Amino acid sequence: MRAGSDIVERPSPDRIREWLTEVTDPEIPVLTIEDLGILRDIRQEDDGVRVTITPTYSGCPAMMAIRMEIVRTLNARGIDRVRVDEVLSPAWTTDWLSERGREKLRAYGIAPPAGKAQGKSALFGEPDAVACPQCGSERTTRTSEFGSTACKAMYRCEDCLEPFDYFKCI
Ligand SMILES: [Zn+2]
Repeated sequence: MRAGSDIVERPSPDRIREWLTEVTDPEIPVLTIEDLGILRDIRQEDDGVRVTITPTYSGCPAMMAIRMEIVRTLNARGIDRVRVDEVLSPAWTTDWLSERGREKLRAYGIAPPAGKAQGKSALFGEPDAVACPQCGSERTTRTSEFGSTACKAMYRCEDCLEPFDYFKCI
């Protein structure tokens, strides 16, 4: 708490949310935490701002970087005290990715998750058809279960022959 006459105008949660749209996934820098759908709650409390997020992949090292980036972004806006809480339930699924986020993934050369996550077996779910983000062809072959990170798989397009990452459904 700040004491005495030092009155600080508190930014609204909406304003804070706007600022936090600058925070991106370190692994896929085109995706903001809003695109990912992981920003759950923003609250002004007596002793600072509390931001609640739902982690994407458990154990994903990106989450640590995202937490730090949230704190850094708000510190830069003059909010000294920031607490980032994680809520694990309900668990994040790729269904939470925004339409805009899926568009950005495609433009970035990563095939967005195909179909719904429900009923798929975690990271090993086999998607029905993964369309090539370059040419849109569905004649694609999985070349590796794990891409550059555990969250992705490697594919190759049989039409344009380009390899690409696929953002797995979970
Ligand atoms: Zn292709």
